[in-house]
Amino acid sequence: MKKSLGKLLPFAMILLTNSCMQDHYVSGDYTRVAKIDAHFHYNADLQAVEAVAKEDHFSYLCINTDVPGEIDIFRQQALAAAFHKRQPGMANYLTTFSMDGWDSANWAEKTIQKLKADFANGAVGVKIWKNVGMVFQDKSGKFVFVDDPRFDPVIDFIMQQGKPILGHLGEPKNCWLPLDKMTVNNDRSYYSRHPEYHMYLHPEYPSYEAQIRARDHFLERHPQLRFIGAHLGSLEWSVDELALRLDKFPNFAVDLTSRICHLQLQSLTDYEKIRQFFIKYQDRILYGTDREVDAKSQPDQFREITHKTWFTDWKYFVTDEIMTNANVPGPFKGLKLPRSVVNKIFHDNAVKWYGLQEGKP
Ligand SMILES: [Zn+2]
Repeated sequence: MKKSLGKLLPFAMILLTNSCMQDHYVSGDYTRVAKIDAHFHYNADLQAVEAVAKEDHFSYLCINTDVPGEIDIFRQQALAAAFHKRQPGMANYLTTFSMDGWDSANWAEKTIQKLKADFANGAVGVKIWKNVGMVFQDKSGKFVFVDDPRFDPVIDFIMQQGKPILGHLGEPKNCWLPLDKMTVNNDRSYYSRHPEYHMYLHPEYPSYEAQIRARDHFLERHPQLRFIGAHLGSLEWSVDELALRLDKFPNFAVDLTSRICHLQLQSLTDYEKIRQFFIKYQDRILYGTDREVDAKSQPDQFREITHKTWFTDWKYFVTDEIMTNANVPGPFKGLKLPRSVVNKIFHDNAVKWYGLQEGKP
C-alpha cells in the first residue's frame, strides 16, 4: 500500500530537525565524547588522574619538560612511560632532552641515544622548552636559539623516526610588558610568581621578536618536520599573526594550552573573526590545558579543578552561552563550533599530529 506524501511529511520533518540538531553538541554530550588533553604534566603517580579521565572521557598526552628546580627529566620519563604501559588507551607521552653538555663535541650524539631509547620506550614525540632561547647560554655567554644548526642532527633524527616536536618557544607577548599593561590576569599572576621569566624585568635578555623570528626561521629550515607550537605558538595575542604562519608552514599546528583566554579577549572586539579562525584552521588546532599533577597535589582538589577546567572549555567551544572568567575583562560568548570541528580540536588532531596508535580512549 502506497503511503500518501501528507503522511510521510511529519516523519521527514522529524528527521530533518534531528540532523540539524546533530550538527552541534550540547553541554550534556560532554561525557559521551572521547577527548584528549594534549598538554598535561604527569609528575606524580596519583590515582585521581585516572579517575577523572574515566569519568570525563578524557585521555592524556603527558609532556616531559626540563624545568630547573623541578622533578628531573629521567624521573618524568619513567613516570609517564609507566602510566602509558599501565593504561595505553589513556596516556601517551612526549619525551625531552637536556641542554647539559651542549658545548661538548658529543652533545648531539648523546641526545640522539637518549631519544632513541625513549622512542623504544613508547614516547610519541619530543618537547622543546623555552629554556632554549630564553635561559640557556653557551660557554661564550650567548643565548642558544632553536634555529641553531648545532641542533640539526637531533632534529634530523626525530624526523627520520617520523616523530613530531612540541615547541614551547618564547612566551606570551605580555611577558615583555609591565604587570599593569598585561592583557589577561593569568599572565599577570604567573609573572608575579615567576619574576625570573618576566622579561620586562630583564631587558638584557632577547626580545619577543627575536624568539618568534628564531622559531619561524627554524620552521623554514625544517619544512618537513611536524611541529606543534605550544601555547598558540606564542602568537596568542593575534589570530592574524598566527594565521600568517599557519598559511606559510603547512606542517605547523598549535595547541591552545593556557591561552584560550587570549582568544576570548580578542572575541570581545570581533567574535566572528575568532569563530572563523577555528573553522578555517580546524585541522591545525589541538586542545590542551597544562594541568599538572605532582607530589604535592591533593587528589580531591586535583579532580575538581581538572573537571572544571575541561568542562568549562567544552562549554566554550560547543555552546553559545554568555560566559565569564577571571582572566577576561568582560563577558564573552561561546563559539558553538560545528560538531565535526569540535571532534578534531578535542580529539582527532592530537591523534593525527602526534601519530597516536590507540585512537579512542
Ligand atoms: Zn606545559
